[in-house]
Amino acid sequence: MARVAADPTLIPHGTANGAQNYDCRCEPCVEARRAARRVGTPRLRPACGTEGGYHAHWRRGETTCQPCRDAHAAYQRERVVTP
Ligand SMILES: [Zn+2]
Ligand SMILES: [Zn+2]
Repeated sequence: MARVAADPTLIPHGTANGAQNYDCRCEPCVEARRAARRVGTPRLRPACGTEGGYHAHWRRGETTCQPCRDAHAAYQRERVVTP
């Protein structure tokens, strides 16, 4: 990736690319950088054996594994509300 410290008019303001490569502080660039960070971080899949892992299986249409089923069962037990 070439880091060009050149003519500021060449900076693609308001794009994630421009904001990240040129370190521009103008408002469109700051906003673009913020947006890029929001969508740019891939959400890690929750580990198996947790309630999150259980749902990750479902979201992907997979069969839940035993550790996840155990975690989900435990979660359901804990969630039982007593009025
Ligand atoms: Zn800019
Ligand atoms: Zn699992």
